Amino acid sequence: MTEAGRTVVIGAGHNGLVCAAYLAKAGRDVLVLEAGHQVGGAAVTRELVRGFKVPAVAHLLQLLDPAIENELGLAGHGFALAKSALKTVALSEAGEPLVLDGNRIASGIVSAADRAAYPDFIDRMRRYATVLGRQHGRIPPRLAWQRWQDAIPAGRIALDIRRLGREDMREFLRIVTMPIHDLLEESFETPLLKGAIALDAILGTKLGPRSGNSVFTYLHRLSGASPSPSLPKGGMGALSEALAAAARAAGAEIRLSAPVASLVLADGRVSGVRLENGEEIAAVTVVSNADPKTTLGTLLGARHLEAEFARRLNHTRAIGTAAKLNLALGALPQFRGVDAQLLGERLVIAPDAGYVDEAFNPAKYRDYSRAPVIEITLPAVSDPELAPAGKHVLSAIVQYAPYDLAAGWDTERDAFRDCVLAVLERYAPGLRKLIVAAEVLTPVDLERQFRIGGGHWHHGELTLDQFMMLRPVPGAAQYAMPVAGLYMCGAGCHPGGGVMGDAGRNAARAILEGAPR
Ligand SMILES: Cc1cc2nc3c(=O)[nH]c(=O)nc-3n(C[C@H](O)[C@H](O)[C@H](O)COP(=O)(O)OP(=O)(O)OC[C@H]3O[C@@H](n4cnc5c(N)ncnc54)[C@H](O)[C@@H]3O)c2cc1C
Repeated sequence: MTEAGRTVVIGAGHNGLVCAAYLAKAGRDVLVLEAGHQVGGAAVTRELVRGFKVPAVAHLLQLLDPAIENELGLAGHGFALAKSALKTVALSEAGEPLVLDGNRIASGIVSAADRAAYPDFIDRMRRYATVLGRQHGRIPPRLAWQRWQDAIPAGRIALDIRRLGREDMREFLRIVTMPIHDLLEESFETPLLKGAIALDAILGTKLGPRSGNSVFTYLHRLSGASPSPSLPKGGMGALSEALAAAARAAGAEIRLSAPVASLVLADGRVSGVRLENGEEIAAVTVVSNADPKTTLGTLLGARHLEAEFARRLNHTRAIGTAAKLNLALGALPQFRGVDAQLLGERLVIAPDAGYVDEAFNPAKYRDYSRAPVIEITLPAVSDPELAPAGKHVLSAIVQYAPYDLAAGWDTERDAFRDCVLAVLERYAPGLRKLIVAAEVLTPVDLERQFRIGGGHWHHGELTLDQFMMLRPVPGAAQYAMPVAGLYMCGAGCHPGGGVMGDAGRNAARAILEGAPR
């Protein structure tokens, strides 16, 4: 084992790449070891069948920190958008969809009261979301203060809430832990509108609209700099490729097909990693982009953790409920009541908040929803290079399909796919006849193919009890783990999942500043 000054990053997910790029820019000798044969983790574009490229898992970009885009010069490394400021088209089986464009209801049948109330509602939610957004680029404060300076970051959070002003502060504190269902009942009456907002609150979580915290997860979704989602040109993988190019340009080395089996320890600190093929690579610092349970439970080994810390880690919730359906299509599908020019937007199936709630119920009992909530994009409409001329790809996130399915996914996967296709067919008659190839990725498949423990969108549920200084567990929220030399930089850390990059950037800062544990 040589290369004693080296930093090893385990995993080339987008957060691992961001972390590697910042560390390399700061002069560190960085080696990224990625188990898969592509960079990007869940932010990847891959060929489903010859000529048809799909965003394999994540498909919409909304939370990427613009500071990262600028500081790493991503445009210079090939990153561009195929389409920005996507509208949300809330599909209706019966007829006209509702079209939401930023803070405006662009078209559809809604009550006059809802039409008038919507802009103010969205503006207010965005103001509240800025409280969360301001925390994204910060290292969370410690719960136990050792020095008076430790109080400053906590004071900043209080100040951010206070800066909302008296009225907004009171309202923010009233609603932040509430179920989105209750807020929607207070605010609106049109079912399609309530359904679309409920979907935004629960996507990627194991929460229903009547669950506490679902206003918080809604605000988290709105907490980025961009008010509406975008489609990266070349699919989500193009962003990861640009991040990898930025990391390489700064001097980092990236090795693919290099799965790490375990961490190597010497004198009570991390001294390197051991690959699955037995090769050992020395490092003074190891940063893991893998989820917390994989990093600490599997790669490090629970025996190296204090019992209380191991208990906290075991108690974190990380049961993924979002599945992915990718289709190669022989032609552009038609959706009931949807103009062709809206097919490049974000389409959602969540006809009302009650439907979303009922879709959640089976997940509580380890079953999947027969009438799921679905978010759909047809990215080749605005990015024709993703499919052969005249043909298309459909990318759908399907909620709720729990990781811990009682019957097991290996027996249920096909029945689940048929069920999702039957629901889509109701909104897009004739869709099934257009299918050239189909792929379903359940949370178990996400775990197997992308090494995401529990197949969870956020590498661990994103609720207030697992947020900021409690993420992934108290005592490890500043990216430094309880073994010297070991850090984490993935979605399981603050500020959570979604393609944001902040966990990677904050972790690099913690390492460069030598964050004490
Ligand atoms: C179905 C689904 C749809 C989603 N859709 C969206 C969306 O539209 N928009 C959005 O913003 N977010 C979306 N997300 C969330 C988003 O994809 C993730 O939060 C984000 O990609 C996490 O990034 P990461 O870099 O932290 O981790 P990951 O992307 O999980 O990357 C971790 C990397 O570490 C590697 N790794 C793990 N263990 C090892 C090991 N032992 N050795 C070497 N390498 C290892 C993995 O192979 C992987 O490449 C979605 C998530 C899911 C599950």
